[in-house]
Amino acid sequence: MNIASQAKVAVIGAGIVGLTTALQLQRAGLSVVLLDAQGPGSGCSRGNAGHFATEQVFPLASIAVLRQLPAMLLDPTGPLRLRAGYFFKALPWLLRFVANVRPARQQALQQALSALNAQALPAWQRLLPQAEATDLVTFRGALLVSEQPGLINLAQTFRQYQDAGIMVNWLEQAALRSREPALSTAVQGAIEFPDVAHTVDPYVLCLRLHQQFIALGGLFRQQQVQRIRPCNSGYQLDLTTDPKIPQSGPGELTLQTSKLVICAGAASHQLCAELGYRVPLEAERGYHLMTQSRPLQCPVSSLERKFIMTPMQHGLRLAGTVEFAGINSAPDYRRASVLLQHANQLLAEPTSANPALEPWAGNRPSLPDSLPVLGQAPRHPGIYLNFGHQHLGLTWAALTAELTSALLLGQTPGLDLSPYRIDRF
Ligand SMILES: Cc1cc2nc3c(=O)[nH]c(=O)nc-3n(C[C@H](O)[C@H](O)[C@H](O)COP(=O)(O)OP(=O)(O)OC[C@H]3O[C@@H](n4cnc5c(N)ncnc54)[C@H](O)[C@@H]3O)c2cc1C
Repeated sequence: MNIASQAKVAVIGAGIVGLTTALQLQRAGLSVVLLDAQGPGSGCSRGNAGHFATEQVFPLASIAVLRQLPAMLLDPTGPLRLRAGYFFKALPWLLRFVANVRPARQQALQQALSALNAQALPAWQRLLPQAEATDLVTFRGALLVSEQPGLINLAQTFRQYQDAGIMVNWLEQAALRSREPALSTAVQGAIEFPDVAHTVDPYVLCLRLHQQFIALGGLFRQQQVQRIRPCNSGYQLDLTTDPKIPQSGPGELTLQTSKLVICAGAASHQLCAELGYRVPLEAERGYHLMTQSRPLQCPVSSLERKFIMTPMQHGLRLAGTVEFAGINSAPDYRRASVLLQHANQLLAEPTSANPALEPWAGNRPSLPDSLPVLGQAPRHPGIYLNFGHQHLGLTWAALTAELTSALLLGQTPGLDLSPYRIDRF
């Protein structure tokens, strides 16, 4: 048996969540094998908007979102889309989502989201130097802009953030123009979030974490976990290998371990189901398009258009939209193209898509209450769960890696994890 088949800890999934978790555990002195059906950072973590969005403390389900739902659902290129053929599959998730708009629920969820967000950036600030990745993250704040004359809705949003204890500044048009001169005169004003950050390339950040994991002796295997089965020494993972991937060794098809962490993003519920846990995880697909120019200094989101423009090393990334279509359906790249039309309404100088960079789609792993699943699997000692990071996987990854690592090492995590337990459903 080689080192991989005797791993002390197996981490399933090498997105941003699995990579930070594997690195944290390897740094703690454990022998870790990281498994992913694709290469590191090839899933949703590859193309996100790069925004460490600690201001987003509100659950996704709200009365305001519900009011906009019918109009949004009818427009195939609108910010929210439910594909007709997927309606009945998504219905149970949507009903649970709607149940979360009750005021008491909203308050509890906001508290649980705020608890994660408050510790998210400090966790990254601890991890980035260790991963030799400080050059990939920029602390220039972010803006939420509005084109509405009179800015009534933006002012209301500003008060909601203030009430939630988020650091915000109000920028009138003139102040905004000197902060971001490339914005068009259609933009009337903005809320500034001075305390947030962005990465200039989320994929390169994933690769840097992977590199550091390997440098510390971690092992990566490009294999898919088909099944997790209890066995004498803990758990046996049944693996498959894509025949197109060259193997250095015989490509063993099982792996035994006493401890494992499920970080498989939008596919995590499939592994949990094998173990008897029913988790209402849904793929909320989003899209991005890269432009030729990079005229902005910090991420700029639009209140009305519901998308974000983030300056990255290869241009401006236009990202957003939510599509319920199932994890395996083909992406509809019209949804990425429409982001360019939105951007050109907000920018003074029109920009165009970078022909060298393909539009991209990724599946956000989302639970109907907007909270992740964290903690130990109640009926399976040695199995830990770290998934369901919805729109905030980049933001939370370093923190949930620390929390998971503490649990696995028998330490007390620095946060009460009860709101995130798997048996809340
Ligand atoms: C358009 C868009 C914009 C976004 N913008 C932001 C943002 O600005 N800020 C932010 O914080 N978040 C953002 N997000 C959300 C963020 O990208 C996700 O929450 C995050 O990437 C989830 O990370 P993950 O590691 O859980 O999943 P993934 O990155 O999808 O990784 C999961 C991995 O598990 C592997 N896997 C699955 N099943 C198995 C198996 N059985 N065996 C082996 N491997 C398996 C997959 O191959 C995959 O590589 C955005 C998302 C989208 C779509």
